[in-house]
Amino acid sequence: MKQLQDKISSEGRVLSEDVLKVDSFLNHQVDPRLMQAIGKEFARRFENDGITKILTIESSGIAPSVMAGLTMGVPVIFARKRASLTLTEGLISAEVKSFTKQTVNTISVSGDYVTAEDTLLIIDDFLANGQAALGLLDIARHSGASVAGVGIVIEKGFQQGGILLRDQGIRVESLAIIDSLADGKVSFREEAEV
Ligand code: 5GP
Repeated sequence: MKQLQDKISSEGRVLSEDVLKVDSFLNHQVDPRLMQAIGKEFARRFENDGITKILTIESSGIAPSVMAGLTMGVPVIFARKRASLTLTEGLISAEVKSFTKQTVNTISVSGDYVTAEDTLLIIDDFLANGQAALGLLDIARHSGASVAGVGIVIEKGFQQGGILLRDQGIRVESLAIIDSLADGKVSFREEAEV
């Protein structure tokens, strides 16, 4: 997605060979116009898949997911990383090792909102080693819902998550795929361009 690649090129900051900082439009400040375009692109790619709900994880998955949900006309549910005062019963949980913080979180959703009748689109901001996506897939499996695919805003193609998921037969649609962050420079994989 050209608009996204241009934004990454102009505003992304390479923190190391493994980590890209995009706090100016995705992870801290949010660019609503770009999020809307991202939401429309996810909606276009999954328009024939009978999606009934979008499943994501707080907090950076929420903005692109809400925009996709708005275009597709379906609700968005975000898995919580912390215990909630009100979310205590009928939880479906999974363990997720955090890429950025190197900690293990239990993520949870209420079984009231993800059920065996649902066909889910899983969305997240980044795909690195695939732990967040696998946790969300685990939650889907426990709920009995089917999963049409995983939509990723930025995939780091040089890390293992994409291979891990696609090798399991899971459809992964990434709007930008980064092949390398070497030498402080972002290099994109060409096929991701639309
Ligand atoms: P994974 O679970 O695939 O290993 O990592 C994905 C999660 O880690 C994403 O939800 C994202 O929050 C975070 N993450 C992974 N790599 C990066 C990165 O290079 N930059 C930023 N900003 N977040 C990342």
